[in-house]
Amino acid sequence: MRLSRYFLPVLKENPAEAQIVSHRYMLRAGMIKQQAAGIYSWLPLGLRVLNRIQAIVNEEQIRAGHIPLLMPTLQPADLWRESGRYDDYGQEMLRIKDRQGREMLYGPTNEEMITDIFRGHVNSYKDLPLTLYHIQWKFRDEMRPRFGVMRGREFLMKDGYNFDIDKAAALHAYNRHMVSYLRTYERMGLTAIPMRADSGPIGGDDTHEFLVLASTGESEVFFDSAVTELKLGNREVDYDNREEVAAVCREFTTLYARTDETHDQALFDAIPEERRKVARGIEVGQIFYFGTKYSASMGALVTNEKGEKVPVEMGSHGIGVSRLLGAIIEASHDDKGIIWPEGVTPFPVGIVNLKQGDAAADAACAGLEKALLAKGLEPLYDDRDERAGAKFATMDLIGLPWRITVGPRGLANGVVELTSRRTGVSEEMTPEAAVARVAEIYAGV
Ligand code: ATP
Ligand code: MG
Repeated sequence: MRLSRYFLPVLKENPAEAQIVSHRYMLRAGMIKQQAAGIYSWLPLGLRVLNRIQAIVNEEQIRAGHIPLLMPTLQPADLWRESGRYDDYGQEMLRIKDRQGREMLYGPTNEEMITDIFRGHVNSYKDLPLTLYHIQWKFRDEMRPRFGVMRGREFLMKDGYNFDIDKAAALHAYNRHMVSYLRTYERMGLTAIPMRADSGPIGGDDTHEFLVLASTGESEVFFDSAVTELKLGNREVDYDNREEVAAVCREFTTLYARTDETHDQALFDAIPEERRKVARGIEVGQIFYFGTKYSASMGALVTNEKGEKVPVEMGSHGIGVSRLLGAIIEASHDDKGIIWPEGVTPFPVGIVNLKQGDAAADAACAGLEKALLAKGLEPLYDDRDERAGAKFATMDLIGLPWRITVGPRGLANGVVELTSRRTGVSEEMTPEAAVARVAEIYAGV
């Protein structure tokens, strides 16, 4: 992509309405535009990151054996009357009437609808286990939409629902979600700690929230600092192996880590003092096991091996896809702008031409662009007729992890400069070597 032809409405000034750094940088980097309180347009750069995040979520869900589908944003109120939640949900639910006067709502979540799909098509244990998920816009008429995409009213969520024949199988689905979420967040460059949480209005027994530590987080969290050292890494996990999956979950949930809702001071005090941490965190996901809460009330029954009709065991599992952009920026930025982790960056690398119009520099940039594209890496090439300082400032603000700087002086010696956004360290090398290096970096992402 050439910047001269792109749509990147960068702001020079700090927008007054943004209270936290992620919101400020998303506005300044031309990623989003607010259209109403808590409702945003996703401008091209923001959309690219949103798409990257969705791609990672999809890959990890599919790896875990979960199946994508797509349910609508609008739902009939009657479905929610069956579960009893139409009245319970309160003012967060956006209620709408169509021209026939039928009551509808903009879905805040999809337990009822997925249960309806399930009961219409599945009636035997032989078709289980089954986990269906989608990535779809939700609407919650939050009392205080704020912090940009962090607490929106319209926001993108991945929500998945497992259907199992008994509690043991449903808990395996729960564990599978935990492991797939750990991998998902790690691929986004995040440390998201599973913390025991409170189930709230969805109801249920087992639930963990995934929290990214950040001073601007809305949740108060208590944990053993050793939990922040745990990494899943690239280890192979057989998602069908119950014991193996459960062992990973034990590894990540044995050390103390809780939100304020479930905090237990006595247990906390038992941690060695230097490891006891009280901090703030951003909730980027939550998993629930809730058994037969919806299947019993909505008549989602399956025949078990003994030929009996029993309500199917369920759980639901959500990832805050649009909130993740904010969380990643809160966790990865400096005073010049965003620092995207390679896994989610909108472009893998930027090219800065220090002297636009210089025949050698222009040709070298075009050559780099072509070579990178041939490796499947689309660069953002700043080909504007601007000062070098302004080009660097834009690149730093939008946070591409790697930058190749091309100028007549370097080219006279056959070199360009490859710079890491994170460390600021630059290295001179031939254009070919720069392309090879960038390709090598992204080969592992
Ligand atoms: P919160 O406690 O932050 O209001 P929640 O527990 O009500 O969130 P869930 O029903 O667990 O939310 O939804 C799954 C995920 O969707 C959350 O973990 C969060 O990452 C994201 N999410 C929830 N509400 C919002 C919102 N208003 N804006 C953006 N993302 C949200
Ligand atoms: Mg939650």
